Amino acid sequence: MASIEMKNIVKKYGDGFPAVNDVSLDIADGEFMILVGPSGCGKSTLLRMIVGLEDITSGDMVIGGTRVNDKAPRDRNLSMVFQNYALYPHMSVYENIAFPLRLAKTSDAEVDKLVKEAADVLELHEHLERKPANLSGGQRQRVAMGRAIVRQAEAFLFDEPLSNLDAKLRGQMRTEIARLQRRLGITTVYVTHDQTEAMTLGDRVCVLRKGSIQQVASPRELYEQP
Ligand code: ADP
Ligand code: ADP
Repeated sequence: MASIEMKNIVKKYGDGFPAVNDVSLDIADGEFMILVGPSGCGKSTLLRMIVGLEDITSGDMVIGGTRVNDKAPRDRNLSMVFQNYALYPHMSVYENIAFPLRLAKTSDAEVDKLVKEAADVLELHEHLERKPANLSGGQRQRVAMGRAIVRQAEAFLFDEPLSNLDAKLRGQMRTEIARLQRRLGITTVYVTHDQTEAMTLGDRVCVLRKGSIQQVASPRELYEQP
């Protein structure tokens, strides 16, 4: 687990207005932080700079006390869950969850133990031999989360993970994500444009507008303000 500190982060694509404009934000170890705001406000860009999928134009990204600006994504030890799940259709649920461990050359015995632990947490143990195509949307989303939690990562990053689900399932998965985060106590950054998700999931909410932070507050403080 690790804190995430952003110091005066700027991202410019070309010559235009910065996509992220002087953002400073400290996310504590174990905290669940929501990034919310309208389309185009810079949420995705900020998340991608935390993971290392996007270069930082200026400023410092510090994870667990270490400056990571020049570190490749694989050296940051973070787990990201994407909107489109990015599951491998030809692999079983088991192998989809095991994938990051295979990349890390983890032993078969250790893989087996870790995959089964993750499957238990996510109630996927009965589906381990199935292929993604034979799963429901919610189950697929859980496989994607299984892949994220199977590694002992420093933090979880979610990029609108529920936007492809119907309203009922979205509500259900919201509860599951909140429960999982509390159980694992792992630092989490969660991007959404959904107000309900923003107000129910996190410890704090960071509201972005045109690349800048408009406000950082707890859901309660946001709710009670005039
Ligand atoms: P959000 O995730 O809040 O919808 P983004 O971070 O995707 O916002 O985008 C922020 C701004 O940066 C937008 O104006 C968008 O058009 C621009 N942008 C994002 N990605 C790129 C890119 N690869 N090249 C140029 N501009 C981009
Ligand atoms: P948006 O953020 O607007 O929803 P993107 O397609 O830019 O749209 O966000 C997800 C992107 O992350 C994918 O396009 C994919 O190419 C990219 N990506 C980079 N590295 C990985 C990875 N290791 N696993 C999955 N996707 C990755």
